[in-house]
Amino acid sequence: MMRRADRIQTPLSGTLVVRQLASRAITPPRSSVVPRARYSQAAAVAAPQPEEPFPCSNGVDEFWRKVPMWKDVSTDEFMSYSWTLKNLVEHHKRSAPEKLRGTLTGVLPGHVPLNRSGSILQSREDFISDIFDGIEKSSMSLRITPHAFSRINWQDPRHDPIFRQFIPLKSLMRPDHPQCEIDSLHEEDDKPVGALVHRYPDKALFLPIAVCPTYCAYCTRSWAVGPHTAEVTKKQLQPTLKRWEAAFEYIRATPQITDVVVSGGDAYYLTPEQLAYIGERLIKIPNVKKFRIASKGLGVAPNRILDPNDQWSDALLYVHRQALKAGKRVALHTHINHPNEISWVTKEASRKLIEGGLTVRNQSVLLRGINDDAETVSKLIRSLAEDLRIQPYYIYQCDMVQNVEHLRTPLQTIIDIESQLRGSIAGFDMPQFIVDLPKGGGKRLAGSHLSYDRNTGVSRFTAPAVTGGGTKVNKVYEYHDPLPLAAQTEHHPN
Ligand code: SF4
Repeated sequence: MMRRADRIQTPLSGTLVVRQLASRAITPPRSSVVPRARYSQAAAVAAPQPEEPFPCSNGVDEFWRKVPMWKDVSTDEFMSYSWTLKNLVEHHKRSAPEKLRGTLTGVLPGHVPLNRSGSILQSREDFISDIFDGIEKSSMSLRITPHAFSRINWQDPRHDPIFRQFIPLKSLMRPDHPQCEIDSLHEEDDKPVGALVHRYPDKALFLPIAVCPTYCAYCTRSWAVGPHTAEVTKKQLQPTLKRWEAAFEYIRATPQITDVVVSGGDAYYLTPEQLAYIGERLIKIPNVKKFRIASKGLGVAPNRILDPNDQWSDALLYVHRQALKAGKRVALHTHINHPNEISWVTKEASRKLIEGGLTVRNQSVLLRGINDDAETVSKLIRSLAEDLRIQPYYIYQCDMVQNVEHLRTPLQTIIDIESQLRGSIAGFDMPQFIVDLPKGGGKRLAGSHLSYDRNTGVSRFTAPAVTGGGTKVNKVYEYHDPLPLAAQTEHHPN
């Protein structure tokens, strides 16, 4: 049975780290307070393109104030991460649905467009019912940060690229392709110990936590991340010291592992002390030469990175400096899918990390109706590379996860987008366009398929470096495009 002292607590569940960690003298140095004047400077160069002008005060683009419940929230309040945690918009079994219903009623107009031209409208009440029906059919719980929530165009949410990533509408959902699975990458099969996936010869995926600041509807780790939903009972990825220690021990005892991805869940929900602790432990393992911290935090709650009362980014930069001293490398891998997610706060937060010397890379997922066209992806890449100075690293094909069929695109879409963009963007800013092969083949270039039958929608790949201890040698992996609507009706009469 787990001892109380072994449990790692998250900021929302009490803010204290376990006693063993709390007693450690890990004190990441604090950066200087971001001067108020810098907000104004950033806002002046970083105004987004809203449907209607955002409120402005003292020259600061206070975009969150267009959400009625936050109309009086000052810049200083909004920039506070503790304010963010108190104002998460969420719905899961423990939270009262009335609260979410009230939030949506407050932010939505009386009628919302049903089609893109806006010629057909739907009542607010019907739209909210559609959301609650969508929640019932989702693999992921609903949680969204104020930053992300206030980047949505609430005058037309159905067609908004941020809304669609985080808030489900039953009317948009489609029946699953028969080959979709809740653990489509078969990560469970490659776990030598509870908190670790070891698929590639030299790389391991460490899963220290199973919660995130915002839950993405298409999450590839729907089988474990976030609270249970009506559709999915989550496998437990309990963040305990015992599980962490087993992972560290496996990495130490496996000398071919030189590269570790610290993910989850989202490393943003590690306390600064936990982040520093994990970093120090990995730095001390001789065979680990580099590791990445995976977090969507820069995209959905960038204010935390600038909050002088929060030490997460200080802990990250501390780990980065410690790693450099030890001759090792650390990077932050973030996850931004659409240029509308990027605000002046994102730019300032990114500037702090980049000027702190950290390498930051971005991984996006190609999602139907959200970013599945060359113009949007081009704009995203340029904004990442030129405004944020982040390396656009991967554009992923959406995984074959259950209950996200409405968000998947055919393989041809990602191939076409890469083809259109190559040559129009500097080669070193071009991301790799990737399929993470279903059933555990790992990442392959989308265009590197062995075959692709456009009629059946089946593409075939091999992954010679992923051997699975001999069990995957010469294995052929298949990615299946989403079924066309007519075929879906035929396969799924409902
Ligand atoms: S942040 Fe990552 S782990 Fe969390 S829900 Fe989104 S995709 Fe899943």
